[in-house]
Amino acid sequence: MKLLGMSNKKILIWYRNDLRIHDHEPMYQAIKEGALIIPLYCFDIRQFKTTSYGFPKTGNFRGQFLLESVANLRQSLQDLGSNLIVRKGYPEKIIPELIKELEIDAVYFHEEVTSEETTVEKEVKQALKPLKVKVQGFWGSTLYHWDDLPFEVNQLPEVFTSFRKKVEKSSTVNPTLITPIKLLPFPNIELGKIPTLEELGLEKPDYHSRGMLNFKGGETGGIKRLKEYFWERNCLKEYKETRNGMLGADYSSKFSPWLAQGCLSPRYIYEEVQKYEDARVKNNSTYWLIFELLWRDYFRFICAKHGNKIFYESGLQGLDIPWKEDKERFKLWQESKTGYPLVDANMREIAATGFMSNRGRQNVASFLTKNLGINWIMGAEWFESLLIDYDVCSNYGNWNYTAGVGNDARGFRYFNIPKQSKDYDPKGDYLRHWLPELKMIPGDKIHEPWKLSQDEQKRYNVRIGVDYPRPVVDFFKSVKANEKVYNSATK
Ligand SMILES: Cc1cc2nc3c(=O)[nH]c(=O)nc-3n(C[C@H](O)[C@H](O)[C@H](O)COP(=O)(O)OP(=O)(O)OC[C@H]3O[C@@H](n4cnc5c(N)ncnc54)[C@H](O)[C@@H]3O)c2cc1C
Repeated sequence: MKLLGMSNKKILIWYRNDLRIHDHEPMYQAIKEGALIIPLYCFDIRQFKTTSYGFPKTGNFRGQFLLESVANLRQSLQDLGSNLIVRKGYPEKIIPELIKELEIDAVYFHEEVTSEETTVEKEVKQALKPLKVKVQGFWGSTLYHWDDLPFEVNQLPEVFTSFRKKVEKSSTVNPTLITPIKLLPFPNIELGKIPTLEELGLEKPDYHSRGMLNFKGGETGGIKRLKEYFWERNCLKEYKETRNGMLGADYSSKFSPWLAQGCLSPRYIYEEVQKYEDARVKNNSTYWLIFELLWRDYFRFICAKHGNKIFYESGLQGLDIPWKEDKERFKLWQESKTGYPLVDANMREIAATGFMSNRGRQNVASFLTKNLGINWIMGAEWFESLLIDYDVCSNYGNWNYTAGVGNDARGFRYFNIPKQSKDYDPKGDYLRHWLPELKMIPGDKIHEPWKLSQDEQKRYNVRIGVDYPRPVVDFFKSVKANEKVYNSATK
């Protein structure tokens, strides 16, 4: 493949959630056409406003990760002899200006599926109409390509297992596209400075010393993490056994922030799993990582099928549940003051690091919706704000699912928090890590501190109701009350 441009064509590569140079179809196609590529990243100021409940849409942790990812992309492009134009504003205004200034012939980009993102795509296309340039979207965020699904998207199965089985049986994962090794020099243009966090209205995240992994944004950091997790520390071989953990860097891959910004391509991960299977071991764990990536695919295709329904309170099922908007109790959940250590420890972790394990996310989301009966949208927006790995489809898809309004929700199901705590953190190490006020309580008692006698409280140096809160609700009574509400909800 020729890697240097040969024609006089100029193609603008509009970077969005695809901040990488490996396995990048818009760039690959443009180079194949012999064009000079002009990469652009635009900080869309709408992404730095607030959510409907008033939380910053992009919080400090993700903001920092994004800045690092853009800087890393610029560096990689510079290393190839090219560069990255950086702008802040509205893509639908900035792209036409660049088209005129640099006499660009076409715009290539990766497509998204949810409304905020597709609205921008439409506006860009609209604004470019009078300029008569070619505008082409490519599909590149999933493991399986949209075109290779064994069904039309409107026939996508509503149940994950059925989706997975059909895809595994009838589709194949495409190989990654070649990574360029040299690019044509860049035209003379004001490149634009990468904004600072302050310029985006954010503050420097206060990385907590208890955080277990330093998530460094960018393709280089993503590939490094994969190398460490698979090849250096050999963790993949026992992923299935460890993936439900909560404490430490290596119980799960932690690929999600890089996947969300597109710094890692899922097909690259897939190929590395295959290499690992050839070189080391092929077992349930190696399969299971791919299985989890299929969940990611599934939520993205479900969003493509159902459009905005994923954002409705009534969810994909259209279930009209009278959710509460109890701001006081919501605040207790946000601020780790529910009196349920498993919930509080996880909420402290996300606030301090921007990350929470899958086990933690399922439990805190269940507690908010099934114990407190609070509108799941409030929780989803809080996650949107804080998560370093926020991905619109995975976040809203999983919240739909946990709140019981998802497409394949199986009635009212809840997580038994004290039991989950004992099952997944039997010695209480995770709880003690994030709740030092409970650190002297032994493993068998830490999960339900409200049961400690006065003597025990003295012995373990904690006063329930003073140093650590009493439970905000009775666990089973609250579950029962919310189950009643759920069961009487109408479609
Ligand atoms: C309420 C709730 C909200 C969530 N919000 C997000 C989100 O905004 N962004 C996000 O990437 N994940 C989200 N998840 C899914 C999951 O919790 C994270 O993907 C996972 O914890 C990330 O850690 P990891 O990379 O170590 O995962 P691993 O266990 O190593 O899995 C590998 C990859 O598979 C994918 N994956 C795993 N589980 C899921 C899942 N349940 N749904 C979709 N993809 C999955 C992710 O891309 C992940 O990086 C959410 C889950 C819940 C219950």
